[in-house]
Amino acid sequence: MSSDNSWTRKIELGLYRAAGASARLGYPLRWEKLEIDDNRSVWASYTPDYQPNPPLTGPETADLCIIGGGYTGVSTAYHFSQRFPEKRVVLLEAKSLANGASGRNGGMMLNWVYGVGPMSDEMTARVYHATHQTIDSIEQIIQDHNLDVSYRRDGCFEVFTDEQRAIEAQDEVAHLNSIGVPVQFCDAAQVRQKINLNGIYGGLFDPSEGQLNGVQFVRGLRPVLEAWGVKIYEGTAVTKITEGPTIEVTTANGSVKAKAIVLATNGYTGKLGYFRKAFFPLHSHVFATDPLSDDTARQLGWYGTAGFSDDLNRISYATRTREGHIVFGGGSNISYAYLWNNRTAYPGTPDSANPAFNEMQQTMGQYLTGSGSLRRAYRWTGTLAITMRRNCFMGVRGDYNNVYYALGYSGHGVTAANMAGKVLTDIYSGSDEQWRGMPFIGADYSPVPLDPFRWMGYQMMTRLTGRSPREPHR
Ligand SMILES: Cc1cc2nc3c(=O)[nH]c(=O)nc-3n(C[C@H](O)[C@H](O)[C@H](O)COP(=O)(O)OP(=O)(O)OC[C@H]3O[C@@H](n4cnc5c(N)ncnc54)[C@H](O)[C@@H]3O)c2cc1C
Repeated sequence: MSSDNSWTRKIELGLYRAAGASARLGYPLRWEKLEIDDNRSVWASYTPDYQPNPPLTGPETADLCIIGGGYTGVSTAYHFSQRFPEKRVVLLEAKSLANGASGRNGGMMLNWVYGVGPMSDEMTARVYHATHQTIDSIEQIIQDHNLDVSYRRDGCFEVFTDEQRAIEAQDEVAHLNSIGVPVQFCDAAQVRQKINLNGIYGGLFDPSEGQLNGVQFVRGLRPVLEAWGVKIYEGTAVTKITEGPTIEVTTANGSVKAKAIVLATNGYTGKLGYFRKAFFPLHSHVFATDPLSDDTARQLGWYGTAGFSDDLNRISYATRTREGHIVFGGGSNISYAYLWNNRTAYPGTPDSANPAFNEMQQTMGQYLTGSGSLRRAYRWTGTLAITMRRNCFMGVRGDYNNVYYALGYSGHGVTAANMAGKVLTDIYSGSDEQWRGMPFIGADYSPVPLDPFRWMGYQMMTRLTGRSPREPHR
């Protein structure tokens, strides 16, 4: 009897199907061995020799203990240590640096802070320039420390799939230009000179935006931080935080007594007991093609831009790396999943993962003729922290004013999370004039109910309407 017909094989296939259906419904699964073959991002594939630091064992003390080794954590360690070289900084990362969204995203390095709502002209220009300066500073950091980081900075598009939206964007751009924000409106033909997208009516082009390999950037900064005295422990998940004038941070085999901490855990923060109602941790799917030569990219119509995103509720976004991969994310309901009980480890199976990636690639093929049949060389998921108003928040809290936080970037955090390190350092030092009054400082959020209502609400909303739950900004 062939193995395909054996009863064990039939049971295994049954399990795969049940697992697939279950995962599509968002249930947690126990069959970890059925996880998709490799959930590693294309970004991580460019640091093949990276060895995580050993975990924390025993007691430590710190002036500042940073929990989480993504953009928020590493940018805080960078700015804080630069400003306060005498202070002792400890960074604890559950797995390895850039394990989270910072190493699993679409790579778009964008201006603006998402979800901040209507602002005065003065504030609009301030927010834009703060993010613009952050992108400049990322580039500067790469150059100053001679980091081996792949990035490009030849601009990104937000494209409009609706004619009326494109018409409105022209007025919006004229107004932004009048207050010193140098974005450009391109009609469909002008967009197509840089990228030949179907089904669009124009785009907003920002020439200062780009794309960044977050894994190379975050991991590349480890030796720089260590040379400045920052202690970095990887494989070290924080299990408990006990607040007080000195905060006790507990891990599996050690502890840190710290005068202040930073919650740099974005989509994972609820598990530490903080901001539990603030956001949905969503699994967002992304894939990357093989590296394409410039000629092949030109044949597909990708001539010269770092990337684009669209204006739809289930946003599609794509970038092209310096090495030539096209990275594509979102673009369908199934590509953004909320899993029961805020689960952040992806319980994918061959059955459950493929429908999402197939649908996404269909969307890519609709935008970019001929790309629907490209091989997916990498496919992965990452945990987003999506707030109801899509707004992020940064600040300090706690009875002793010593719990710093920056999170809730809602899929728009490459720049904002790198900015967070400077924001938190400025708040700590009391020299935060630049940030005062900005809409994300100490911002509140619309609460998301906890499970089971969170799970039920998300499933109902997304399945009935094909849209993500979202509350307009008040
Ligand atoms: C699929 C995807 C695509 C995206 N695309 C874009 C994009 O194109 N452009 C854009 O601007 N933004 C994008 N984003 C958003 C952006 O990547 C994030 O907002 C940003 O990386 C958040 O950085 P962070 O450091 O706050 O969080 P993370 O990078 O998630 O880092 C948090 C870290 O905390 C660690 N951690 C968690 N729990 C613990 C614990 N208990 N103890 C110790 N450590 C812990 C995690 O392992 C993780 O490394 C995307 C996000 C995803 C998931």
